[in-house]
Amino acid sequence: MSMKSKRSRRRRRETIIFTILILVTLVILGYFFFDTNVVIHAQDEEIQVTNIDDEYEEAKATWLGIDISNLIEKDGEVDFQKPGKYVVKYHVKFSTKSCEKTVVVKDAMPPEITLVGKSDVVVQNISEYEELGYEAKDNVDGDITGRVKANMKQVTDNYYEIEYYVEDSSGNKSTCIRKVMVNAGTVFLTFDDGPSEEITPEILDILKEKNVKATFFLVGYGENKEEIVKRIYDEGHSIGLHGFSHDYSVIYQSVDALMNNFMTLQEMVKTTTGGYESNLIRFPGGTSNTVSRNYCVGIMSQATVKAGEYGYVYFDWNVDSNDAGGAKTADEIYQNVISGIQPGRNNVVLMHDSSGHTATKDALEKIIDYCILNGYQIKSITEDTVPVTHNPNN
Ligand SMILES: [Zn+2]
Repeated sequence: MSMKSKRSRRRRRETIIFTILILVTLVILGYFFFDTNVVIHAQDEEIQVTNIDDEYEEAKATWLGIDISNLIEKDGEVDFQKPGKYVVKYHVKFSTKSCEKTVVVKDAMPPEITLVGKSDVVVQNISEYEELGYEAKDNVDGDITGRVKANMKQVTDNYYEIEYYVEDSSGNKSTCIRKVMVNAGTVFLTFDDGPSEEITPEILDILKEKNVKATFFLVGYGENKEEIVKRIYDEGHSIGLHGFSHDYSVIYQSVDALMNNFMTLQEMVKTTTGGYESNLIRFPGGTSNTVSRNYCVGIMSQATVKAGEYGYVYFDWNVDSNDAGGAKTADEIYQNVISGIQPGRNNVVLMHDSSGHTATKDALEKIIDYCILNGYQIKSITEDTVPVTHNPNN
């Protein structure tokens, strides 16, 4: 072999080595350029336990501002149904960049207590009360009925409250109350001369909020009040007939006029409610009124008999709020009612929901509270209610 060819071979080898070195350097520099520009980040999060599949934000990665999140490899899972602290690890493929994200799963949802049986219980004697039962469920812990604590406390002579209490493993608390009344008697709240657009809806709101049923002895009403009558009916109150007209000089002309006055209204109510036929009546001024003497002597004595022939049951009252008389303020009305209510009997309370009776509406909530706290059951009048009646005075 010549010297020349030996030299040229060495030079070629040197060129190859040099080229490889350059390439390796380029690759290293290139990788370094790639790796230093990879940005990966994930933010710690706190997530509430839910019953639906929740999601948290996954880590994101960019390279020179270009999204390369698809190169992320993830390690770790989060159980959204189970409170705790979870760490999820992320790594960007082909790079040295990785990060961690902490997801704290918290249970903020309180358990739910459901009472078995009524939430308002009436007993004759408090020693008769036997626990009706309850259930407690939690979104995380499941059935936790065994953890419920029940505690009965006496509020007044005839009114007790049982407080049910439960706490889930994350410290979320729930309570629930059962009212136990020692039966003192029954109160029937009755409203005459309505409906009125001004007072009746507000009275219905209060009754609804207090979960109490009452009785409305209606007078004739226009189209504008049909919705109110429907509401009275739909919300489970009793509708009674006070009569289409309240004009004594018209209705007390004769027994027939009086009966027709009830029938006209009965038809009207039937149309409005889609078929409800009320047979509960209250004579304007009450059975004991003397005003009818001016128009027809003996009419009330006849009417009490005639009502039965027509299938009507008539009701008067034994507690007068006097809201159509001297009682002008809510406090006077309240005092009249609570001093009139007596234990051991059916108490029928006379009130009015016609226009202007703002004080009656204002007294109502306190009256209801008084009844509950003193062991009275509040009911609406039905055809099965033993009537409270006055003797005719004419
Ligand atoms: Zn009246």
